[in-house]
Amino acid sequence: MPPDSAHTVQDTRTNLVGLSREALTAALVEVGEKPFRGKQVWHWIYHRGATEFAQMTDLSKDLRAKLEPHFVVARPVIAREQTSVDRTRKWLMQFADGQKAEAVFIPEEDRGAVCISSQVGCTLTCRFCHTGTQRLVRNLTPAEIVGQFMVARDSYGEWPTPTDERRMLSNIVMMGMGEPLYNFENVATALKIIMADDGIAVGKRRITLSTSGVVPEIHRCGEELGVNLAISLHAPDDDTRSVIMPINKKYPLKDLMKACREYPGASNARRITFEYVMLKGLNDTPAHARALIKLVKNIPCKFNLIPFNPWPGTPYECSDAETIEAFAQTLWEAGFTAPIRTPRGRDILAACGQLKTDSERLSAKEKRVRDSQEAEVAKAAWAEKEAAL
Ligand code: SAH
Ligand code: SF4
Repeated sequence: MPPDSAHTVQDTRTNLVGLSREALTAALVEVGEKPFRGKQVWHWIYHRGATEFAQMTDLSKDLRAKLEPHFVVARPVIAREQTSVDRTRKWLMQFADGQKAEAVFIPEEDRGAVCISSQVGCTLTCRFCHTGTQRLVRNLTPAEIVGQFMVARDSYGEWPTPTDERRMLSNIVMMGMGEPLYNFENVATALKIIMADDGIAVGKRRITLSTSGVVPEIHRCGEELGVNLAISLHAPDDDTRSVIMPINKKYPLKDLMKACREYPGASNARRITFEYVMLKGLNDTPAHARALIKLVKNIPCKFNLIPFNPWPGTPYECSDAETIEAFAQTLWEAGFTAPIRTPRGRDILAACGQLKTDSERLSAKEKRVRDSQEAEVAKAAWAEKEAAL
Protein backbone atom coordinates (compact mmCIF):
# COMPACT_ATOMS: atom_id res chain seq x y z
CA MET A 1 0.00 0.00 0.00
CA PRO A 2 1.38 3.47 -0.74
CA PRO A 3 2.17 5.51 2.38
CA ASP A 4 -0.45 8.12 1.51
CA SER A 5 -3.42 5.77 1.24
CA ALA A 6 -6.91 7.25 1.47
CA HIS A 7 -7.34 6.10 5.06
CA THR A 8 -4.44 8.05 6.40
CA VAL A 9 -3.07 11.27 5.05
CA GLN A 10 -6.10 12.86 3.41
CA ASP A 11 -8.80 11.43 5.61
CA THR A 12 -10.49 13.78 8.03
CA ARG A 13 -13.05 11.25 9.29
CA THR A 14 -12.72 10.02 12.89
CA ASN A 15 -10.72 6.84 13.30
CA LEU A 16 -12.67 4.43 15.49
CA VAL A 17 -9.49 2.50 16.28
CA GLY A 18 -7.93 3.71 19.51
CA LEU A 19 -11.11 5.08 21.07
CA SER A 20 -11.88 3.62 24.48
CA ARG A 21 -15.08 1.59 24.55
CA GLU A 22 -16.95 4.52 26.10
CA ALA A 23 -15.60 6.95 23.52
CA LEU A 24 -16.48 4.60 20.67
CA THR A 25 -20.04 4.25 21.93
CA ALA A 26 -20.33 8.00 22.44
CA ALA A 27 -19.13 8.62 18.87
CA LEU A 28 -21.86 6.36 17.49
CA VAL A 29 -24.51 7.89 19.72
CA GLU A 30 -23.49 11.29 18.43
CA VAL A 31 -24.48 10.33 14.89
CA GLY A 32 -27.83 9.07 16.15
CA GLU A 33 -27.13 5.39 16.89
CA LYS A 34 -28.20 3.35 19.92
CA PRO A 35 -25.46 2.61 22.48
CA PHE A 36 -25.56 -1.17 21.82
CA ARG A 37 -24.05 -0.52 18.38
CA GLY A 38 -20.84 0.25 20.23
CA LYS A 39 -20.51 -3.37 21.28
CA GLN A 40 -21.21 -4.62 17.75
CA VAL A 41 -18.71 -2.33 16.07
CA TRP A 42 -16.09 -3.06 18.76
CA HIS A 43 -16.48 -6.77 18.02
CA TRP A 44 -15.94 -6.23 14.31
CA ILE A 45 -12.90 -4.06 14.80
CA TYR A 46 -11.06 -5.90 17.57
CA HIS A 47 -12.34 -9.46 17.43
CA ARG A 48 -12.81 -9.88 13.69
CA GLY A 49 -10.20 -7.42 12.48
CA ALA A 50 -12.53 -5.67 10.04
CA THR A 51 -11.07 -2.69 8.23
CA GLU A 52 -14.17 -1.58 6.29
CA PHE A 53 -17.77 -1.05 7.31
CA ALA A 54 -18.78 -3.18 4.33
CA GLN A 55 -17.40 -6.20 6.20
CA MET A 56 -19.67 -5.62 9.18
CA THR A 57 -22.44 -7.79 7.79
CA ASP A 58 -24.75 -7.78 10.80
CA LEU A 59 -25.16 -4.02 10.49
CA SER A 60 -27.85 -3.00 8.01
CA LYS A 61 -26.78 -1.53 4.69
CA ASP A 62 -28.36 1.75 5.69
CA LEU A 63 -26.42 1.90 8.89
CA ARG A 64 -23.15 1.11 7.17
CA ALA A 65 -23.83 3.85 4.66
CA LYS A 66 -24.52 6.21 7.53
CA LEU A 67 -21.23 5.44 9.33
CA GLU A 68 -19.07 5.69 6.24
CA PRO A 69 -19.03 9.52 5.92
CA HIS A 70 -18.14 9.99 9.58
CA PHE A 71 -15.72 7.23 10.49
CA VAL A 72 -12.88 5.01 9.34
CA VAL A 73 -11.23 1.94 10.79
CA ALA A 74 -7.63 2.81 10.00
CA ARG A 75 -4.29 1.14 10.68
CA PRO A 76 -0.82 2.60 10.36
CA VAL A 77 0.53 1.99 6.87
CA ILE A 78 3.46 -0.37 6.37
CA ALA A 79 6.28 1.69 4.87
CA ARG A 80 8.69 -1.28 4.98
CA GLU A 81 8.58 -4.88 6.16
CA GLN A 82 11.67 -7.00 6.72
CA THR A 83 12.03 -10.58 7.87
CA SER A 84 15.25 -11.79 9.50
CA VAL A 85 16.96 -15.10 8.77
CA ASP A 86 15.73 -16.13 12.25
CA ARG A 87 12.12 -15.23 11.23
CA THR A 88 11.96 -12.08 13.35
CA ARG A 89 9.84 -9.59 11.45
CA LYS A 90 10.11 -5.83 11.62
CA TRP A 91 7.68 -3.28 10.30
CA LEU A 92 8.37 0.37 9.73
CA MET A 93 4.97 1.91 10.22
CA GLN A 94 3.95 5.27 8.94
CA PHE A 95 1.27 7.35 10.59
CA ALA A 96 -1.16 9.89 9.16
CA ASP A 97 1.25 12.83 9.64
CA GLY A 98 4.10 10.99 7.95
CA GLN A 99 5.96 10.16 11.18
CA LYS A 100 7.23 6.63 11.56
CA ALA A 101 7.96 4.06 14.25
CA GLU A 102 8.99 0.41 14.25
CA ALA A 103 7.31 -2.71 15.62
CA VAL A 104 8.86 -6.17 15.75
CA PHE A 105 7.51 -9.71 16.03
CA ILE A 106 9.78 -12.24 17.71
CA PRO A 107 8.45 -15.72 16.97
CA GLU A 108 9.07 -18.78 19.11
CA GLU A 109 8.03 -22.29 18.11
CA ASP A 110 4.25 -21.84 18.38
CA ARG A 111 3.91 -18.43 20.01
CA GLY A 112 5.69 -15.11 20.08
CA ALA A 113 5.86 -11.54 21.29
CA VAL A 114 5.04 -8.37 19.44
CA CYS A 115 7.35 -5.55 20.48
CA ILE A 116 5.50 -2.26 20.28
CA SER A 117 6.70 1.36 20.22
CA SER A 118 5.20 4.06 22.42
CA GLN A 119 6.82 7.16 20.94
CA VAL A 120 8.43 8.32 17.73
CA GLY A 121 12.02 8.46 18.99
CA CYS A 122 12.66 9.01 22.69
CA THR A 123 13.37 12.05 24.87
CA LEU A 124 15.83 10.01 26.89
CA THR A 125 19.36 9.45 25.75
CA CYS A 126 20.54 6.13 27.11
CA ARG A 127 24.01 5.88 25.67
CA PHE A 128 23.79 2.29 24.47
CA CYS A 129 20.46 2.71 22.69
CA HIS A 130 20.04 3.54 19.03
CA THR A 131 16.60 5.06 19.62
CA GLY A 132 18.26 7.44 22.09
CA THR A 133 20.19 9.10 19.25
CA GLN A 134 16.98 10.18 17.66
CA ARG A 135 15.22 13.46 18.18
CA LEU A 136 11.84 12.86 19.86
CA VAL A 137 9.19 13.86 17.49
CA ARG A 138 6.08 12.98 19.44
CA ASN A 139 4.06 10.58 21.56
CA LEU A 140 2.10 7.94 19.72
CA THR A 141 -1.68 8.05 20.01
CA PRO A 142 -3.73 5.11 21.32
CA ALA A 143 -4.75 4.37 17.70
CA GLU A 144 -1.12 4.21 16.64
CA ILE A 145 -0.18 1.94 19.54
CA VAL A 146 -3.10 -0.49 19.12
CA GLY A 147 -2.66 -0.18 15.35
CA GLN A 148 0.86 -1.64 15.52
CA PHE A 149 -0.49 -4.83 17.02
CA MET A 150 -3.36 -4.95 14.53
CA VAL A 151 -0.95 -4.63 11.60
CA ALA A 152 1.11 -7.48 13.04
CA ARG A 153 -2.03 -9.61 13.26
CA ASP A 154 -2.94 -8.72 9.68
CA SER A 155 0.49 -9.84 8.61
CA TYR A 156 0.02 -13.28 10.21
CA GLY A 157 -3.68 -13.53 9.32
CA GLU A 158 -4.56 -14.08 12.97
CA TRP A 159 -8.14 -12.80 12.84
CA PRO A 160 -10.65 -13.36 14.33
CA THR A 161 -9.07 -13.48 17.77
CA PRO A 162 -8.30 -17.16 18.41
CA THR A 163 -10.58 -18.39 21.17
CA ASP A 164 -8.06 -20.71 22.80
CA GLU A 165 -4.61 -19.87 24.05
CA ARG A 166 -2.96 -21.17 20.90
CA ARG A 167 -1.89 -18.17 18.91
CA MET A 168 1.33 -17.03 17.31
CA LEU A 169 0.97 -13.43 18.47
CA SER A 170 0.52 -14.46 22.08
CA ASN A 171 2.44 -11.80 24.00
CA ILE A 172 3.13 -8.10 23.91
CA VAL A 173 6.19 -6.26 25.12
CA MET A 174 6.17 -2.48 25.34
CA MET A 175 9.86 -2.48 24.50
CA GLY A 176 10.03 -0.72 21.18
CA MET A 177 10.94 2.88 20.59
CA GLY A 178 10.24 5.41 23.29
CA GLU A 179 9.61 5.52 27.01
CA PRO A 180 6.08 4.21 27.65
CA LEU A 181 5.77 5.86 31.05
CA TYR A 182 6.37 9.27 29.47
CA ASN A 183 3.25 8.60 27.40
CA PHE A 184 1.24 6.88 30.08
CA GLU A 185 -2.29 8.04 29.19
CA ASN A 186 -2.09 6.90 25.60
CA VAL A 187 -0.32 3.67 26.47
CA ALA A 188 -2.95 2.94 29.12
CA THR A 189 -5.87 3.57 26.73
CA ALA A 190 -4.23 1.36 24.12
CA LEU A 191 -3.47 -1.48 26.52
CA LYS A 192 -6.99 -1.44 27.95
CA ILE A 193 -8.32 -1.87 24.41
CA ILE A 194 -5.85 -4.67 23.77
CA MET A 195 -6.71 -6.46 27.03
CA ALA A 196 -10.51 -6.38 26.60
CA ASP A 197 -11.85 -9.96 26.52
CA ASP A 198 -14.29 -9.37 23.69
CA GLY A 199 -11.66 -7.96 21.35
CA ILE A 200 -7.95 -8.53 20.87
CA ALA A 201 -7.90 -10.22 24.28
CA VAL A 202 -4.24 -10.37 25.16
CA GLY A 203 -4.33 -10.65 28.95
CA LYS A 204 -2.34 -8.59 31.42
CA ARG A 205 -0.16 -11.56 32.31
CA ARG A 206 0.99 -11.70 28.70
CA ILE A 207 1.91 -8.04 28.53
CA THR A 208 5.17 -6.59 29.81
CA LEU A 209 5.89 -2.90 30.01
CA SER A 210 9.51 -1.87 30.11
CA THR A 211 10.64 1.41 31.60
CA SER A 212 13.97 3.10 32.02
CA GLY A 213 12.75 4.04 35.51
CA VAL A 214 10.18 6.83 35.45
CA VAL A 215 9.59 6.39 39.16
CA PRO A 216 6.43 8.52 39.66
CA GLU A 217 4.46 6.53 37.06
CA ILE A 218 5.44 3.03 38.10
CA HIS A 219 2.78 2.60 40.76
CA ARG A 220 -0.03 3.67 38.41
CA CYS A 221 1.16 1.23 35.84
CA GLY A 222 0.65 -1.63 38.29
CA GLU A 223 -2.56 -0.31 39.74
CA GLU A 224 -4.39 0.74 36.56
CA LEU A 225 -3.07 -1.85 34.14
CA GLY A 226 -1.69 -4.70 36.23
CA VAL A 227 0.78 -5.67 33.51
CA ASN A 228 4.18 -7.22 34.13
CA LEU A 229 6.92 -4.73 34.84
CA ALA A 230 10.40 -4.75 33.38
CA ILE A 231 13.02 -2.24 34.45
CA SER A 232 15.99 -1.30 32.30
CA LEU A 233 18.51 -1.47 35.12
CA HIS A 234 21.88 -1.96 33.43
CA ALA A 235 24.07 -0.96 36.39
CA PRO A 236 24.13 -1.63 40.13
CA ASP A 237 25.43 1.80 41.21
CA ASP A 238 24.36 5.39 40.61
CA ASP A 239 27.69 6.54 39.13
CA THR A 240 27.70 4.03 36.32
CA ARG A 241 23.96 4.16 35.76
CA SER A 242 23.88 7.96 35.58
CA VAL A 243 26.48 7.90 32.84
CA ILE A 244 24.82 5.31 30.66
CA MET A 245 21.25 6.32 31.56
CA PRO A 246 20.99 10.04 32.33
CA ILE A 247 17.45 9.56 33.73
CA ASN A 248 19.16 8.04 36.78
CA LYS A 249 20.18 11.55 37.86
CA LYS A 250 16.52 12.41 38.21
CA TYR A 251 15.35 9.09 39.67
CA PRO A 252 18.29 7.41 41.39
CA LEU A 253 18.49 3.75 42.29
CA LYS A 254 17.22 4.14 45.82
CA ASP A 255 13.91 5.59 44.57
CA LEU A 256 13.70 3.13 41.72
CA MET A 257 14.18 0.13 44.01
CA LYS A 258 11.56 1.49 46.38
CA ALA A 259 9.05 1.76 43.53
CA CYS A 260 9.84 -1.84 42.56
CA ARG A 261 9.42 -3.07 46.11
CA GLU A 262 6.00 -1.42 46.17
CA TYR A 263 4.86 -2.44 42.67
CA PRO A 264 1.23 -3.60 42.93
CA GLY A 265 0.86 -7.27 42.18
CA ALA A 266 4.54 -8.18 42.24
CA SER A 267 5.06 -11.51 44.00
CA ASN A 268 7.22 -14.59 43.70
CA ALA A 269 4.75 -15.86 41.13
CA ARG A 270 4.86 -12.57 39.23
CA ARG A 271 8.34 -11.22 39.36
CA ILE A 272 9.71 -7.94 38.15
CA THR A 273 12.22 -8.37 35.34
CA PHE A 274 15.47 -6.46 35.54
CA GLU A 275 16.94 -6.01 32.11
CA TYR A 276 20.69 -5.76 32.09
CA VAL A 277 22.57 -5.00 28.90
CA MET A 278 26.08 -6.42 28.97
CA LEU A 279 28.60 -3.69 28.13
CA LYS A 280 32.24 -4.68 27.90
CA GLY A 281 34.31 -3.33 30.77
CA LEU A 282 31.54 -1.07 31.99
CA ASN A 283 29.02 -3.10 34.00
CA ASP A 284 30.04 -6.73 33.57
CA THR A 285 32.58 -7.69 36.26
CA PRO A 286 31.97 -10.18 39.10
CA ALA A 287 31.91 -7.21 41.51
CA HIS A 288 29.11 -5.63 39.48
CA ALA A 289 27.17 -8.88 39.78
CA ARG A 290 27.67 -8.98 43.54
CA ALA A 291 26.59 -5.35 43.89
CA LEU A 292 23.51 -6.15 41.84
CA ILE A 293 22.52 -8.97 44.15
CA LYS A 294 22.72 -6.60 47.11
CA LEU A 295 20.76 -3.91 45.31
CA VAL A 296 17.68 -6.03 44.58
CA LYS A 297 17.38 -7.56 48.01
CA ASN A 298 13.74 -8.17 49.02
CA ILE A 299 12.37 -7.58 45.51
CA PRO A 300 10.65 -10.56 43.85
CA CYS A 301 12.59 -10.41 40.62
CA LYS A 302 14.47 -12.13 37.85
CA PHE A 303 17.12 -10.89 35.47
CA ASN A 304 17.30 -10.81 31.73
CA LEU A 305 20.87 -10.46 30.54
CA ILE A 306 20.95 -8.82 27.14
CA PRO A 307 24.13 -9.04 25.09
CA PHE A 308 24.68 -5.50 23.81
CA ASN A 309 23.44 -5.16 20.25
CA PRO A 310 25.74 -2.89 18.29
CA TRP A 311 24.49 -0.28 15.87
CA PRO A 312 26.26 2.04 13.45
CA GLY A 313 28.34 4.60 15.33
CA THR A 314 28.14 3.17 18.85
CA PRO A 315 31.33 3.33 20.91
CA TYR A 316 30.27 0.39 23.10
CA GLU A 317 31.09 -3.26 22.73
CA CYS A 318 29.31 -6.34 23.92
CA SER A 319 30.92 -8.24 26.81
CA ASP A 320 32.69 -11.49 25.91
CA ALA A 321 30.62 -14.65 26.01
CA GLU A 322 32.63 -16.04 28.97
CA THR A 323 32.17 -12.81 30.91
CA ILE A 324 28.42 -12.95 30.38
CA GLU A 325 28.36 -16.62 31.41
CA ALA A 326 30.29 -15.86 34.58
CA PHE A 327 27.96 -12.97 35.37
CA ALA A 328 24.91 -15.20 34.91
CA GLN A 329 26.54 -17.89 37.06
CA THR A 330 27.03 -15.47 39.96
CA LEU A 331 23.36 -14.50 39.81
CA TRP A 332 22.24 -18.14 39.57
CA GLU A 333 24.31 -19.08 42.57
CA ALA A 334 22.57 -16.34 44.52
CA GLY A 335 19.23 -17.93 43.59
CA PHE A 336 18.14 -15.72 40.69
CA THR A 337 16.80 -16.70 37.32
CA ALA A 338 19.11 -14.95 34.87
CA PRO A 339 18.77 -16.18 31.31
CA ILE A 340 21.03 -14.73 28.67
CA ARG A 341 18.79 -13.44 25.94
CA THR A 342 19.61 -14.71 22.48
CA PRO A 343 19.73 -11.71 20.19
CA ARG A 344 17.00 -11.87 17.56
CA GLY A 345 16.75 -10.08 14.27
CA ARG A 346 20.19 -8.46 14.44
CA ASP A 347 20.58 -8.72 10.66
CA ILE A 348 17.63 -6.37 10.13
CA LEU A 349 18.45 -4.11 13.12
CA ALA A 350 15.38 -5.41 14.94
CA ALA A 351 17.11 -6.47 18.17
CA CYS A 352 16.76 -4.63 21.50
CA GLY A 353 17.96 -1.07 21.27
CA GLN A 354 18.54 -1.11 17.52
CA LEU A 355 15.28 0.50 16.50
CA LYS A 356 15.58 3.90 14.96
CA THR A 357 13.89 6.08 12.41
CA ASP A 358 14.66 9.58 11.26
CA SER A 359 17.20 12.21 12.12
CA GLU A 360 20.32 12.30 14.29
CA ARG A 361 20.69 14.49 17.36
CA LEU A 362 24.47 14.58 17.32
CA SER A 363 26.72 13.54 14.49
CA ALA A 364 28.00 10.00 14.83
CA LYS A 365 31.52 11.30 15.42
CA GLU A 366 30.49 13.77 18.14
CA LYS A 367 28.59 11.04 19.87
CA ARG A 368 31.46 8.58 19.74
CA VAL A 369 33.83 11.07 21.35
CA ARG A 370 31.34 12.04 24.06
CA ASP A 371 30.37 8.46 24.87
CA SER A 372 33.88 7.14 25.16
CA GLN A 373 34.93 10.03 27.40
CA GLU A 374 31.94 9.39 29.63
CA ALA A 375 32.61 5.67 29.71
CA GLU A 376 36.07 6.37 31.07
CA VAL A 377 34.57 8.50 33.85
CA ALA A 378 32.16 5.71 34.78
CA LYS A 379 34.94 3.11 34.80
CA ALA A 380 37.10 5.28 37.04
CA ALA A 381 34.24 5.89 39.48
CA TRP A 382 33.53 2.19 39.63
CA ALA A 383 37.19 1.26 40.11
CA GLU A 384 37.33 3.49 43.14
CA LYS A 385 34.23 1.92 44.60
CA GLU A 386 35.30 -1.61 43.76
CA ALA A 387 38.51 -1.09 45.65
CA ALA A 388 36.44 -0.28 48.73
CA LEU A 389 34.11 -3.30 48.38
N1 SAH B 1 12.29 2.89 26.89
C1 SAH B 1 11.96 1.68 27.54
C2 SAH B 1 11.46 0.67 26.56
C3 SAH B 1 12.49 0.21 25.55
S1 SAH B 1 12.86 -1.42 25.94
C4 SAH B 1 13.14 1.17 28.33
O1 SAH B 1 14.21 1.69 28.14
O2 SAH B 1 12.97 0.28 29.14
C5 SAH B 1 14.28 -1.75 25.10
C6 SAH B 1 15.24 -2.54 25.96
O3 SAH B 1 16.44 -2.75 25.22
C7 SAH B 1 15.64 -1.75 27.19
O4 SAH B 1 15.90 -2.60 28.27
C8 SAH B 1 16.91 -1.11 26.72
O5 SAH B 1 17.68 -0.67 27.79
C9 SAH B 1 17.53 -2.22 25.94
N2 SAH B 1 18.53 -1.75 24.99
C10 SAH B 1 18.69 -0.50 24.50
N3 SAH B 1 19.73 -0.47 23.64
C11 SAH B 1 20.23 -1.70 23.59
C12 SAH B 1 21.30 -2.30 22.84
N4 SAH B 1 22.01 -1.60 21.97
N5 SAH B 1 21.54 -3.61 23.02
C13 SAH B 1 20.77 -4.35 23.87
N6 SAH B 1 19.75 -3.84 24.58
C14 SAH B 1 19.48 -2.54 24.45
FE1 SF4 C 1 14.62 5.59 25.38
FE2 SF4 C 1 14.53 3.12 26.40
FE3 SF4 C 1 16.28 3.72 24.46
FE4 SF4 C 1 16.61 4.70 26.91
S1 SF4 C 1 16.69 2.52 26.32
S2 SF4 C 1 16.82 5.85 25.00
S3 SF4 C 1 14.51 5.04 27.54
S4 SF4 C 1 14.08 3.73 24.28
